[in-house]
Amino acid sequence: MNPLGVHALVWTGGWSEPERRHAIDATRAAGYDIIEIPLLDPGSVDGARTRPLLEAAGLRATCSLGLTFATDISSEDAAIVQRGEDLLNGALDCARELRATYLGGVLYSALAKYPAPASAAGRSNSAAVLKRLARRAAGDGITLGLEVVNRYETNLLNTAAQALDFVREIDEPNIGVHLDTYHMNIEEDDMSEPVRLCGERLVYAHVGESHRGYLGSGSVDFASFFKGLAEIGYGGTITFESFSSAVVSPTLSNALGVWRNLWSDGTDLATRARAFVEAHLR
Ligand code: MN
Repeated sequence: MNPLGVHALVWTGGWSEPERRHAIDATRAAGYDIIEIPLLDPGSVDGARTRPLLEAAGLRATCSLGLTFATDISSEDAAIVQRGEDLLNGALDCARELRATYLGGVLYSALAKYPAPASAAGRSNSAAVLKRLARRAAGDGITLGLEVVNRYETNLLNTAAQALDFVREIDEPNIGVHLDTYHMNIEEDDMSEPVRLCGERLVYAHVGESHRGYLGSGSVDFASFFKGLAEIGYGGTITFESFSSAVVSPTLSNALGVWRNLWSDGTDLATRARAFVEAHLR
């Protein structure tokens, strides 16, 4: 059985002492192995104070983030690229403090709607920063995952095929592709071929519904997605992601366009999601 994770935004939008305690306790109570902690603002997550809570709960952490236009490493502006590399290095430091072995997300560009296509120079800047980041991460046993997201959240990697090309270009052993069913449902032809295409370069998976609410209540073809995972023998983490206006993060909710209330009870949502994923894995 794959390790199963849940995104912290199912529980809380911040990471103060009571917020992290609640998120970690609720993750454990809902039967998950892993909590995914967002590091959009790495300074706001106290890794040293979080780690003992994880250890006491018997949980592991993974980390994720998206950059902004002010820290966009796919920019052609060297100062912006540098700010992005600094932020990524800060996130890596935090992941290390949390003893996380995975840092993923939109590490390669802003998590935002772009007004124009990506440029060759910007793409090349992004690849150069990620190559250095991967080498630093390797020393701590951390794998990097480039999350493929839809066209309204990046202009660089919208399909698994694009991400594979980029990963091959970066050419480091600890960087791979991170697929998310919510985004695949918008951009890919079907839900299993992209998984097969990634094969052993698939390093992380997000399961999210077409409206990011309860799994099974939308239009995502999960049967096809899990068939693809079985075919490649995927043994990595599968993390449930869901967002509702019931839980708001000052940084992430607006970037993701979370305007509607799709659920109010995170425990009911996460417990049902775990059962849904387990049923598909069986
Ligand atoms: Mn995702």
